[in-house]
Amino acid sequence: MKPYVGTADLHSHSTASDGALKPEELVSRAAARGLTHLALTDHDNASGVAQAQKAAGALGVTLIPGAEISTTWNNAEIHIVGLFLDLSTPALQQFFKGQLERRQERAEEIGRRLERQGFEHAYERTKAMAREGAVITRGNYARYIASTGRAQSTDDAFNTYLKKGRSAYVSTLWPDIAEACAVIARAGGVSVLAHPRRYDFTNSKLRRLITYFVSCGGRAMEVASCQQRPCDREFLAKLSVEYALKASLGSDLHQPSPWRDLGLSLLLPPECSAVWTCPEAEPYFKNFKEDPA
Ligand code: AMP
Ligand code: MN
Ligand code: MN
Ligand code: MN
Repeated sequence: MKPYVGTADLHSHSTASDGALKPEELVSRAAARGLTHLALTDHDNASGVAQAQKAAGALGVTLIPGAEISTTWNNAEIHIVGLFLDLSTPALQQFFKGQLERRQERAEEIGRRLERQGFEHAYERTKAMAREGAVITRGNYARYIASTGRAQSTDDAFNTYLKKGRSAYVSTLWPDIAEACAVIARAGGVSVLAHPRRYDFTNSKLRRLITYFVSCGGRAMEVASCQQRPCDREFLAKLSVEYALKASLGSDLHQPSPWRDLGLSLLLPPECSAVWTCPEAEPYFKNFKEDPA
């Protein structure tokens, strides 16, 4: 059976953060796979959007300007995806600047910790592997570590060095969820709680997070992703209905693989109210056909 490939993917990364594909390559891939709508949601910046939009125009793809914002809630890093952003909003530009400064400090500290473990010039080498001006995430460090052979894969690099509790982990105090939702709203966007199942929370803690997110003006949550257990998708769909949140879907693509790719398996359960029914989405989703041709 051919895998299902949906027509919209609302979470993806390019070389503007820790994705492997350039913005225009990501858009070409979307077009080749039959997608009509793609949101570019790099970490804490939107510097790839203009280039992506240029490519999208030529290929008949609708490019949605977005970003994935890091926040802190109860000592955990929670990601909030902003969609349909007006990137000319000064408050948003200011916010990205602050995030970039936090990321810069953190990236340098991660580099120093790796140096102490024998990774020479870890920061400079990671930076050299990333696109010029790209925001350096742990994802970039993971690629660098794997390239040295001191980890089998990027996953292994996370497990050995980068994840919470490991030797190069640097804890960062990101802005509150309320601040992220407020700046997204000011930029005319919709706040989406990213990958709710990836925080390893109990169901009751996840409910507390969603309750807080809603109180901050959060409007939607991701329900469908690639490689997801059917029971997880059903549970998230149920939560979206219960909390009256719109439902979003996204591959969170960093690097294509057989199990993660643009549009792959992205289908919302019928009880969901899709995020593209928000008024903010209207300009982007005119004539949208959810079912692939
Ligand atoms: P950062 O925002 O700098 O903390 O980096 C987060 C990024 O690292 C995520 O968007 C993923 O791309 C990647 N990442 C986080 N945790 C893992 C993990 N356990 N294994 C592989 N990649 C991960
Ligand atoms: Mn990432
Ligand atoms: Mn994320
Ligand atoms: Mn992401």
